[in-house]
Amino acid sequence: MGEQVFGSSGTLTLEMTEGSPDRTGPYEAALDTLSRTATHLKMSAVEQKLYATCKREVSVSFPIRLDNGTSRVVKGYRVHHNTALGPAKGGIRFATNVDIDEVRALAMWMTWKCALLGIPYGGAKGGLAIDPREFSKEELERITRRFTRELADIFGPDKDIPAPDIGTDQQTMAWILDEYSVVAGYLAHGVVTGKPLALGGSLGRALATSSGVTEIALAALKEEVGDPRLCTAIVQGFGKVGAGVAQLLHEAGVSVVAVSDEYGALSNLAGIDVHELQRHYSAHGRLTGFGGAEHRDRDSILTDAADLLVPAAVEGVLHGGNASRVQVRVVVEGANGPTTPEADQVLNSRGVVIVPDILANAGGVVVSYFEWAQANQGYRWGEETVAERLKERMLDAWSRVRAYARAHELDLRAAATALAVSEVHAAQQLREEIVSV
Ligand code: GLU
Repeated sequence: MGEQVFGSSGTLTLEMTEGSPDRTGPYEAALDTLSRTATHLKMSAVEQKLYATCKREVSVSFPIRLDNGTSRVVKGYRVHHNTALGPAKGGIRFATNVDIDEVRALAMWMTWKCALLGIPYGGAKGGLAIDPREFSKEELERITRRFTRELADIFGPDKDIPAPDIGTDQQTMAWILDEYSVVAGYLAHGVVTGKPLALGGSLGRALATSSGVTEIALAALKEEVGDPRLCTAIVQGFGKVGAGVAQLLHEAGVSVVAVSDEYGALSNLAGIDVHELQRHYSAHGRLTGFGGAEHRDRDSILTDAADLLVPAAVEGVLHGGNASRVQVRVVVEGANGPTTPEADQVLNSRGVVIVPDILANAGGVVVSYFEWAQANQGYRWGEETVAERLKERMLDAWSRVRAYARAHELDLRAAATALAVSEVHAAQQLREEIVSV
């Protein structure tokens, strides 16, 4: 476990311990933002330490029987960062590089994301250090059910509500729902979100993150550049978030000039026909081989010229090594933590507007909240109601963040985090006052 200590300047530093492979990982990035926010909000060292530390960290390890009859040991985590505002909420990720520090960072970002959007949840995240593509569907089902049993005391509709993230989907949520419900003795619809419609999922959940990113991107382009229909965009990542963003930007009239997935990239200065590309992607499972664009090296498009860049895959893709070459006016973070602190500084100093993840990609958890509310009410909302309420919340948060940034002369990440931390801190102080020395 990493140990947080305060340096002589009062800022938070992270000692190098197991699980902290380097100082620019996601947890380090999350602590860096928190430290700057705490200074801005004039928080005491003990208050800052409270939010730098996760409330509950569970790590599990269990054997799983493979289809070939042999066994393998799987390692996983579930972390609650802070629950001052409500039950712990956040996705479960299946990816080889999952470790405790990544899960801590992602849990902290969920706390801020929910608070900023006015959603009555705390922040959580979980993950298994596996590559889901190495397993059959039956193996993944066994892994997911076993992980759920290991965490059956932690999960709960009023305690901890998982959702999909990288490497998981609505089928994963259906298995968690079923396994948890067997243990709990009733069909606990509210224990997961992002579940299939037939099991009480919400209309509009599948595209929710992409819709939210797109709404924010269009608002940011209008503000910073002009008519979005005259703008160009680069979308990095073509998974659950990126593919939807490319589609929705294209439908809104933005010219998508470059996209990438984990295998490579495509670019076309005249604009990619995203609908055609989606047909190709559904058939082949990768961008490679698409006829309507030039094939490029995967990361080369990050430094192409355009009005907008949407990093929509994993953490740390904009870093000290490429930030000075980024050539866009606006970055809208579709992924969690795609910009390292060093890149953030470089981009800000170059006048690039960065809309932070905790605002830009909050659409997923907003509709997760709608799904949970529907499950608790036992009453399904129509697709338009979901879409309208999502748009309203996203644009309201966008206006509040911009107004705060202007009033306090902060960048958007600092403003969004300050608003979120203040919200959590107000609830925390009412529940249990933190007294500083
Ligand atoms: N995994 C998504 C995120 O990072 C959604 C979380 C949720 O809906 O709970 O925001």
